Parts: sequence; C-alpha cells; structure tokens
Amino acid sequence: MSLLTRRHVMMAATGIVAAAAAPRLVFAQAAAPAPSGPFKLPPLGYPFAALEPHIDAKTMELHHGRHHQSFITNLNNFAKDNPKLAEMPVPDILGKLDALPESIRTGVRNNLGGHANHTMFWQVMGPNGGKPSGDVLAAIDRDLGGMEKFQTDFNASGGRQFGSGWVFVTVTKDGKLAIENRPNQDNPMMDGKRVLLGNDVWEHAYYLNYQNRRADYLKAWWNTVNWTKVGERYAAAMAGKLDV
Ligand code: MN
Repeated sequence: MSLLTRRHVMMAATGIVAAAAAPRLVFAQAAAPAPSGPFKLPPLGYPFAALEPHIDAKTMELHHGRHHQSFITNLNNFAKDNPKLAEMPVPDILGKLDALPESIRTGVRNNLGGHANHTMFWQVMGPNGGKPSGDVLAAIDRDLGGMEKFQTDFNASGGRQFGSGWVFVTVTKDGKLAIENRPNQDNPMMDGKRVLLGNDVWEHAYYLNYQNRRADYLKAWWNTVNWTKVGERYAAAMAGKLDV
C-alpha cells in the first residue's frame, strides 16, 4: 500500500477524510514521491486520532508520515552505496557506529537512531493501553520505586533534557530497569543497551497541542502507553530477543 493510500485509509478510519480531502490532496501531490529502498516506514497500528485528546491526530500524522519518513528516505539514500546497512540488525549497527565509513557515520547515527526510536515509540503507545502488571510491574516496583515514583522521575528526567532528545527506560537481560536520557536521536543501543519504552521530547512531538508546556505533555503521555506491548517487550528483553 502506498503512503498516500495508507494515509487515506487511516483518514477514513478516523472519519476526517471528507472534511480534509481537498487540501490534503494538493499537499500530497506537492510532496516528493517516497523513493523506494530497503528501509520501510512501519505502519502505525492505530488511527492518527486514536491517542486524542492526549496527542492530537495532526501531530501523529506529521510525526509518523513526515518526521519518521524522512529518516527512512535518508537511510535509503545511504543504503544505495552501503547496502549492508539494510542487511545488518539495527542493534549491531548502532552498537558499533565506529565501524561505519566516516562519511556516513553521523548520518546513520541520526537517521537509524531516529528510525529505531520512533519504531519503538509507535509500538509502546496505543488506545486503551491498560495498566502495568506481572513481571514488568514487579520490576518497576523493585528498580524504580513503584509506579508513582517512576512516573515522577521519568517526567522530571524528560523535563531536564535540554533541547531535543528522549527519555527512556532501559532494560538489561536480567530484567533490571533504569531511566536514561539521550540527546538528539541517540539511543541506548549505542551503548549496548536495550530500551523497554521511551518518550520523545523533541518539540515536534507535542508543540501543536502543548506549545512550550513539555511538562503537561509528559504527564498526559502516560495515558497513551500500551502496557500490554510494554509487557511483551519486557519478556522479549529477558529472552534476549528485543531489537528496537
Ligand atoms: Mn520524533
């Protein structure tokens, strides 16, 4: 399914296709066609409007279809001369950026980091996300002081990130959790770690709805977390099978 077709399916699912069809068609025609290549934009598992009122549909549409797509486009351009980029597991590349040719090292750091971060981000959100339970809740109680302290500390950490970046919870193979920030599109995989979940604190993630109020966005974001998926990621990390 092409990006344009998929966008219309998603818009139809959210009931906004009739109202927005005309201006959006012009917008879509003016955009450059998505070049083909081995890297693909992973589809959202839910409509753009599914996270409202906490994250608005327009922010989701731009964030997924424009911001994440730009990482994909750039990676496909790098892959033309460096086909191995698309053949190696993402954690292996990000964990050994020094092994890359210097000419593409920074570009891969930013764009493959961005691809990995956003792929994780779409996964750990969703409507009707439920509550943490089982092993992941036990780990939150053990390592992060329980849900209330965890959310307070995570929000504070995201608030302290100067400029653009991410706040993550990393997970070891033993299931130990820790809150860690990274600037720009860096990812804990660059330090050989794995991410359980994370929140994007770049302004593009919240500015349309929250403007400069990052703290309000951080607080509201918890309403979008898909705890079933987070529980699956925790089990995958313990099994050594968690990638991005
Ligand atoms: Mn982002």
